[in-house]
Amino acid sequence: MFNCNAQSNVVKGSALSEAIMQQGKPKLVVGIVVDQMRYDYLTRFDSKYGSGGFKRLINNGFNCKNNHFNYIPTYTGPGHASIYTGTTPKYHGIISNNWYDKEIKKVIYCVSDTTYNSVGTDDKYNRFSPQKMQVSTVTDELRMATQMQGKVIGIAIKDRGAVLPAGHTANAAYWLQGGNEGNWVTSTFYMDELPKWVDKFNKSDVAEGYFKTWDTYYDIETYTESGGDLNDFEGGFNGKVTATFPYDLTKLKDFNNGFDILKLTPYGNNLTTDFALAALDGEQLGKDDITDFLAISYSSPDYIGHNFGVNSKEIEDTYIRLDKDIERLLNKLDAKVGQGNYTVFLTADHGAVDVPAYLQSINIPADYFIYGDFKKQLNEFVTKRFKASGLIESISNNQVFLDRSTIALLDLDLDDVQEVIVNEIINYKHIDKAYTATTMSSMNFDTGIEALLQKGFNQKRSGDVLYVLGPAVISYGKTGSHHGSGFNYDTHVPLLFYGHGIKKGSTVARTEVTDVAPTVSALLNISFPNGAIGKPIEFVLD
Ligand SMILES: [Zn+2]
Repeated sequence: MFNCNAQSNVVKGSALSEAIMQQGKPKLVVGIVVDQMRYDYLTRFDSKYGSGGFKRLINNGFNCKNNHFNYIPTYTGPGHASIYTGTTPKYHGIISNNWYDKEIKKVIYCVSDTTYNSVGTDDKYNRFSPQKMQVSTVTDELRMATQMQGKVIGIAIKDRGAVLPAGHTANAAYWLQGGNEGNWVTSTFYMDELPKWVDKFNKSDVAEGYFKTWDTYYDIETYTESGGDLNDFEGGFNGKVTATFPYDLTKLKDFNNGFDILKLTPYGNNLTTDFALAALDGEQLGKDDITDFLAISYSSPDYIGHNFGVNSKEIEDTYIRLDKDIERLLNKLDAKVGQGNYTVFLTADHGAVDVPAYLQSINIPADYFIYGDFKKQLNEFVTKRFKASGLIESISNNQVFLDRSTIALLDLDLDDVQEVIVNEIINYKHIDKAYTATTMSSMNFDTGIEALLQKGFNQKRSGDVLYVLGPAVISYGKTGSHHGSGFNYDTHVPLLFYGHGIKKGSTVARTEVTDVAPTVSALLNISFPNGAIGKPIEFVLD
């Protein structure tokens, strides 16, 4: 393998080594996923961003302005899996964050794995691995291509945001244990004890230091890109009557489960950056000739969006501050790895809808779907129609799971039961579309919502009937934003590439999130993840 860095030791600093470096591989790839970042957060808050964060990536890198998720449901687990595998739930199997497992007849979590234990905490529920993800990630392919010498580290406040990107062969994935601990922890899937640098970080007062007051970064009067601070569309924190600045976290932490409150503030992003920078040093990432991969996911914007909504001052402040985190990260990469020696991509795992109650207040069609009523009505109908109770085992992620053994026992035709349910629920308020599993596995859809559903449909894991709610209709409380649909507000997310091997430019041509991993694979000249269906975005690559 041609290796630029061995050469650069000989002719350090010369034009020759520069030229060689241009042809070689980056020493480090940094994948940044922002949890719940709509594309318009780049443009809406543009005037508030500095030149060293998002704008540095945009102006000196490549901006794919029309990048979309290409399946339903747009949630965190499937989002991270799809970005890093270059494929969709149909193939990678992460059909949601939680789903009803047809075999064991229980709801399971996308990264839970009780065959492993937690490391760094005694929390017995903190047992995770990537094993439910059925295909390889770009990070796995890098590990294999380098005979496991290229290091891969995943970091996120949310376990699934760290575990899925890091893949099956990672050196480590770390996530934040909240409550009264405030420590970065991992799983015996990766190791039996925390490395010294992680221990040292956990013993420091960095996390505690963020128990301070959250006020706006700039004067709130200048936050003209978001709605009024006091309105009817925001959740807020226990222990404070209004969802308005400032938030005294030292006081509020006792009413909001200790360190968990940090996750719901921009300080969660600060803490994630602090830890990522510690990993850079602790693991010596990007220091040798073999490409390493640091997969960072910023989870806090999702918690903040769910709490305060897309149009809130809190979201505006979160992105103003995240811009500073990106700047801090890039500056450290310049210093430690060297400008031109690393490649960054930044995207999101999904977008979010404006708070439906807010949309209603400005006459845009939006509403709330009352899941409990739907479940009751459908169960009553099915019981009456087929003269049997319990035919519906579960309804989750807008999919109805039928009790197939009882259906067989009663000598009912499965296709017929699915069809009857579709014809019934299509009459219900807010159910916009409905399809049978048979339709999903026998037809081929190229465009529209049907194609998105099909790419999210996993024949072994998904349900018997799939339904789609109308635009801006969510099953959620009256405050805060949510996501999961195939509409543009959920599918349209940023995709920025920057650094080694990346051209400067932008495009409004449609790209899809499944193109990210193949693009990075092409950049690194390694195999594509084994289930990848996306293609390298060739105009991005130098
Ligand atoms: Zn979310």
